[in-house]
Amino acid sequence: MITIPIEECNSFSQKIYDDYVFRIQPHMMECKCGHRGCLSFYGHYTRRLKLLGLLLTLVIQRVRCSFCGRTHAIVPSLIVPYSQIPRIDQQEILALAEKGQSTDPVLDRNCQIDESHVRHIIRRFKRYWKERILSLGLTLHDQLTEACLSVYSLQFMQIHRTWNSFFSPPT
Ligand SMILES: [Zn+2]
Repeated sequence: MITIPIEECNSFSQKIYDDYVFRIQPHMMECKCGHRGCLSFYGHYTRRLKLLGLLLTLVIQRVRCSFCGRTHAIVPSLIVPYSQIPRIDQQEILALAEKGQSTDPVLDRNCQIDESHVRHIIRRFKRYWKERILSLGLTLHDQLTEACLSVYSLQFMQIHRTWNSFFSPPT
C-alpha cells in the first residue's frame, strides 16, 4: 500500500480523500518492485473506519503496476492498515496511558472506541512498537507516520507486514 499525508480526523471525509487522490499522478509513485512510471489507477475497495463516533465506509483507490502486476491501495495517513481505529486516536490513547492518565477524552470524542479496544491498542504497542519508536529517538508526541514508513515500511501501529510506502505529491 501507499500512504498519503491526510492527517486531520476532524475534517476528514470521502470527498477530502477523493480530492486528494484526484490530484495525484500515479506514474509519479514508486512500486514495491522499484519501478516508477508504471502505476495507474486500478479499481477500488471499501473499508470501515471508526471516526468521531461514526462508522464510516471509505472507498479506497487502488493502483496497479504494469511492470510487476502488483496492486497497491492508496491509504490516508490517518488510517492504520487492518485497524478501524484512526492512527491519531490510537496515538493519543497511548500517550495518555503512558502518562498514567485517563483515556476518556478519546473515548468521549469517538464513542465507537471502548475499553477493550484501549487494552488491545496498549498491548499491541508494547509488543510491537514501543522499542521501534524508542530506537528512532521519537516519542508518542512526535509525528510518527513518515519516520515509521521510511525506516520500517510500516505505518505506526501497523502489525501485518504488508509493504507500505509514503508518498507526498509535489506541491
Ligand atoms: Zn511494480
